[in-house]
Amino acid sequence: MSIEGKKIAIVGGGPGGLTLARLLQMRGADVAVYERDHSREARVQGSALDLHEDSGLAALEEAGLMEPFWANHRSDLDRLRLTDKNGTILHDHMRQMSGAGKRPEIERGPLRDILLDSLAPGTVHWNRRLESAAAHGDQVVLHFADADSVVADIAIGCDGANSRLRALVTPVRPEYVGVTLVECVVPAAKDTVPEAWNLLGGAALIALGSERTIGMGTKPDGSLLFYAGSEVQRCRRQKTAGRGRHRRQACGLVSYELRRLEQAVGAAVR
Ligand SMILES: Cc1cc2nc3c(=O)[nH]c(=O)nc-3n(C[C@H](O)[C@H](O)[C@H](O)COP(=O)(O)OP(=O)(O)OC[C@H]3O[C@@H](n4cnc5c(N)ncnc54)[C@H](O)[C@@H]3O)c2cc1C
Repeated sequence: MSIEGKKIAIVGGGPGGLTLARLLQMRGADVAVYERDHSREARVQGSALDLHEDSGLAALEEAGLMEPFWANHRSDLDRLRLTDKNGTILHDHMRQMSGAGKRPEIERGPLRDILLDSLAPGTVHWNRRLESAAAHGDQVVLHFADADSVVADIAIGCDGANSRLRALVTPVRPEYVGVTLVECVVPAAKDTVPEAWNLLGGAALIALGSERTIGMGTKPDGSLLFYAGSEVQRCRRQKTAGRGRHRRQACGLVSYELRRLEQAVGAAVR
């Protein structure tokens, strides 16, 4: 499909939507991004991201943004400590920050700023929460919460797991697997929770056990961001999947690098 002369609307200004907007603009496309946040400073941006060579890093390379990426990445997040539920250290995993197979870390806020600054002024329309979308001939009409509407030739849903645009292409809805993560921030953590800060060794930690997990990471401003995860509801698939490997695949407390974590912590997650 040619994008020439087409009005392209991207819903969602997360890493996916902004990267796509940048790549399309580099090819001369007419792109607008509609984001529900009120501004770029609207909220804490969450955990740091490790970017992989075949996905996040490849996209930034294509977008010509490797220089600002390396200027802003977190070289100090080079360790991931694994503990059991009592804080007993099980394994210190060294992250590969350079060379083949590298997975360098960057905070979401600076990554978002890099992407935003790479776009033409006025590309992102803040405070635009998509409520619904409808096909209208060859076009798509986007209805926003402020009762405003926009017509686009191409609409792309980058609005996360609960995408409002997805309903236009499939009735499939996200499925709750029974595990909830709560995101929390402890300001000035070095002083307020020195034991936790020291246990992290200045980097990141995952504690596992008793069907619960805590993932913690230090922030450049001295705060500590953590996710407390717990299985709050037995998921539907688990009832038929039984115990052991299949049960963890269906309801895994930590989907991120589960296999490697399991090897490291042995019986702690069984
Ligand atoms: C705890 C945790 C740790 C992770 N760690 C890593 C990691 O280390 N490395 C990695 O590669 N990935 C990691 N991920 C996954 C990563 O966060 C996602 O892959 C990534 O955020 C997806 O980007 P996205 O732009 O598609 O969606 P999102 O980041 O979900 O962004 C969606 C955007 O759309 C906006 N939006 C939502 N609804 C609407 C609406 N109705 N109207 C307008 N705007 C809307 C939101 O405000 C948001 O800005 C992690 C995820 C979690 C939860």
